[in-house]
Amino acid sequence: DLEFIGNLCKENDIIFSVDNCFATPYLQKPVHYKADLVIHSATKYIDGQGRVLGGAILGSEEYVKICYDYIRRTGASLSPFNAWVLSKSLETLALRMDRHCDNASALADFLSGHEAIDTVVYPHHESYPQYDLAKKQMTKGGGLVGCVIKGGLERGTKFLNSLNMLSLTANLGDTRSIATHPSSTTHSKMSLEDQLKVGITPGFLRFSVGLEHIDDIISDIDQALTKSK
Ligand SMILES: *Cc1c(COP(=O)(O)O)cnc(C)c1O
Repeated sequence: DLEFIGNLCKENDIIFSVDNCFATPYLQKPVHYKADLVIHSATKYIDGQGRVLGGAILGSEEYVKICYDYIRRTGASLSPFNAWVLSKSLETLALRMDRHCDNASALADFLSGHEAIDTVVYPHHESYPQYDLAKKQMTKGGGLVGCVIKGGLERGTKFLNSLNMLSLTANLGDTRSIATHPSSTTHSKMSLEDQLKVGITPGFLRFSVGLEHIDDIISDIDQALTKSK
């Protein structure tokens, strides 16, 4: 809840920094909720095409100056070529995000009606616990869809191994759709107990929904769900 945390930070003199990587500036603007710093992995949706690594830190001059000095001295700065690629990418960010969101929303609808799926996690899906909040903060639901497959890890493994078109990696925000198993990859450094606290069960899957035709995305996921039975 950006508004709540923004006010809490202001009242208590705390720096409010938001990792806005999943939402992108197109869908959510934390500075409207008193964020002092907004951080993006430009490697994800800002490039959006799996080509370069980069990042961006936005905020007041006071804070950005501290980051700038640190980056300048430690060498973590962007190369001119990568900066040029990212500046070209920004020209299509809105177009790409619209398609990511439309595809993701359609996939969330498909999964929520599927007999193999227990829970669907998508901020702009009515079943989402913070649906009203997500509608307030984000103009669209984003490109990531989570779900819990019935049959847990065993069926989940079969499902992932049966995908033909989707790639299996821990990346996100590419033109091409990606399936990830968070428990064994992105969140593997957390204990199983801590994973469960944030809803990452062994059967939890994450899709970074790409720009392909939605029928192709759904058809690959559907055939893999059937094969995993
Ligand atoms: C990937 C990611 C990062 C790190 O970005 P890199 O470009 O890989 O350094 C930070 N925050 C979020 C939410 C991410 O998904």
